[in-house]
Amino acid sequence: EEKTGALRMRQDELEAARIDLERKASDLEQASHYKSEFLANMSHELRTPLNSMLILSKMLADNSDGNLDAEQVESARIMHDSGRSLLSLINDILDLSKVEAGKMGVALETVNVSTSLNALLQRFRPLAGERGLKFTVRIEPDATRELETDGARLAQILSNLLSNAFKFTHEGEIELLAEKAQLGAVPAVALSVRDTGIGIPAGKLDRVFQAFEQADSSTSRRYGGTGLGLSIVSGMTTLLGGQVKVRSEEGKGSTFTIVLPERSPQSQTATTTAGPP
Ligand code: ADP
Repeated sequence: EEKTGALRMRQDELEAARIDLERKASDLEQASHYKSEFLANMSHELRTPLNSMLILSKMLADNSDGNLDAEQVESARIMHDSGRSLLSLINDILDLSKVEAGKMGVALETVNVSTSLNALLQRFRPLAGERGLKFTVRIEPDATRELETDGARLAQILSNLLSNAFKFTHEGEIELLAEKAQLGAVPAVALSVRDTGIGIPAGKLDRVFQAFEQADSSTSRRYGGTGLGLSIVSGMTTLLGGQVKVRSEEGKGSTFTIVLPERSPQSQTATTTAGPP
């Protein structure tokens, strides 16, 4: 009698605790949603005035009337550069909050792998020249030629990875590589950015994809950056139905790989439902 009573009380306590936990989890989710929404709105409001400042400081820096002296032109140029850094930070926060709030749209299209990678080659070639780094694209013969994905997001992911590779590599080479891959049973392509840069300590490797994480707190002072780039890469890759991986050896270099399905998960579901049982 007494024992069953005690047991029942335990059960009631457990049930109350469960309900309490569930409520807390839902509150947290709600708060996180508000945070993302706030950041998205805020970022939008910040961009408008910043854009006017950028246009005006650019006009000053161009000094087309020749009214400014060298020092004033230099000041205007610094103003413009700082404005650009701020804009890219705001854009990163906006992108990340959109991904987190599940508000980032995906526009599926057929993307030619070689065309996309070569466009990035053209874009980053001047930087490679400036930095004295070799920069190449390699597409394995058996790699998928065409992908069904969001081409703009894919370019954004890869250019984030390439920016990092250039930032953290002082000599040697950077390679953009496409290889055949699998995501479980699903045919996929692996797109890698390989560098011969400073590398990441083994203990920090699994944390670099977290927002605001930097492998070395002194790197942020030395290299700048916000620690948002890789969380955006990770969020967007997941959005495209893919996975992101990293291999790195301190002092030797890093390889960041995104594995994307040949066909988007959205349309795969459609094919499965339409196909025979
Ligand atoms: P950010 O570059 O703005 O600091 P990221 O999220 O892009 O932020 O990267 C997080 C951290 O991961 C970097 O601060 C750096 O410590 C490390 N990292 C990223 N890419 C590389 C790379 N190619 N080589 C060495 N370290 C890297």
